[in-house]
Amino acid sequence: MGSLDDMALQKLAELEAGNLRRRLKETDRNAGAYVERDGRSLISFCCNDYLNLAHDPRVLEAAKKALDERGASSGASRLVTGNHSIFTELESRLAELKKTDDCLVFGSGYLANLGIIPTLMKPGDLVLADELSHSCLLAGTDLSGATAFRFRHNDLEHLIDLLTTHRAAAKNCLIVTDGVFSMDGDLAPVAEMAEIAKEHDAWLMTDDAHGIGVLAEGRGSSFVSGAKADVPLQMGTLSKAIGSYGGYVCASQPVIDLLRTRARTLIYSTGLPPASAAAAIAALDIIEAEPAYAALPVEKANRFTRALNLPAAESPIVPLVLGDPETTLKASAFLEEQGFLVTAIRPPTVPQGTARLRFTFTALHRDEDIDRLADLVRTQILKPRAAE
Ligand SMILES: *Cc1c(COP(=O)(O)O)cnc(C)c1O
Repeated sequence: MGSLDDMALQKLAELEAGNLRRRLKETDRNAGAYVERDGRSLISFCCNDYLNLAHDPRVLEAAKKALDERGASSGASRLVTGNHSIFTELESRLAELKKTDDCLVFGSGYLANLGIIPTLMKPGDLVLADELSHSCLLAGTDLSGATAFRFRHNDLEHLIDLLTTHRAAAKNCLIVTDGVFSMDGDLAPVAEMAEIAKEHDAWLMTDDAHGIGVLAEGRGSSFVSGAKADVPLQMGTLSKAIGSYGGYVCASQPVIDLLRTRARTLIYSTGLPPASAAAAIAALDIIEAEPAYAALPVEKANRFTRALNLPAAESPIVPLVLGDPETTLKASAFLEEQGFLVTAIRPPTVPQGTARLRFTFTALHRDEDIDRLADLVRTQILKPRAAE
């Protein structure tokens, strides 16, 4: 065996020792809240398909039609021949939803952030990121070569401190944050951040992967306080509540025009499959026509937090921090025995010492299943800990 395999085996052994090795598990998702794993049917509380649109017959019909008419692949980069007319339709729908001039769709949310940030920010510029920002915001920041600092989670004083100290030395400044934090479910104070950004001539970018479709009648985290917060860069994904695949950014015309001609993950990567765009448009139709349905995931999450006396849910995501990876894995395995799939989230996805169960709620979860899950968590996971 050569040094490559030696290196891999050594790293795997280290991860195994820390309960940090991850494995792919075959999981077949069905319509509704059920998944199949290891030959068992489980109720999933860890899918991001918040509105269960990935299996909605209207979404499937639109995707199938696009598949038949346009093929399985877009065939090239969008800058070459892969720019199907359906992408223009999707982009204008998203721009309308987010109340911006225009929108640009990428292959995925991760690709969007790897393309957007390095296009806008260069060495000599400054990027300030919430410390709990999603991995791809941080990866995009690294790629840009800009000077970067992280501010404490949702800590506006710390953000202002960093701006006061570092803004003047930089040419341009970008502030990045999740709109809804993916592992904590809380919201960024987007309206206040927009004010602060303006005062310091900084640009605010929110990653609304978990907000679009489910907050503020589907418009997302920039709209939760009623009026639209002044966020010049609203990015997100079509792969969660929208039930499809692809990433987007909604912004002003000049910014979108610049990204179209400069973002490397747009230029050097194949356009997303046209059927994914068709599915996303059908999903947006449903979300816009049925705001009460779009509100269900947060309502279901609050049924759960009320039952457990947890702080009210602001999004469909509810974390239960248990601390160390081993305890968290055990709790997850216990719930799985009881028929519930709830993933254990461990470092480095979350900070050391904050391994957790992450529950996500979807429109089609049944109230009696949520109540039974809350009961199990209270009596079998939380109570024994309190008694220790
Ligand atoms: C899931 C997620 C992404 C990545 O989006 P994909 O389309 O799945 O690549 C980006 N940001 C946040 C906050 C996410 O939760």
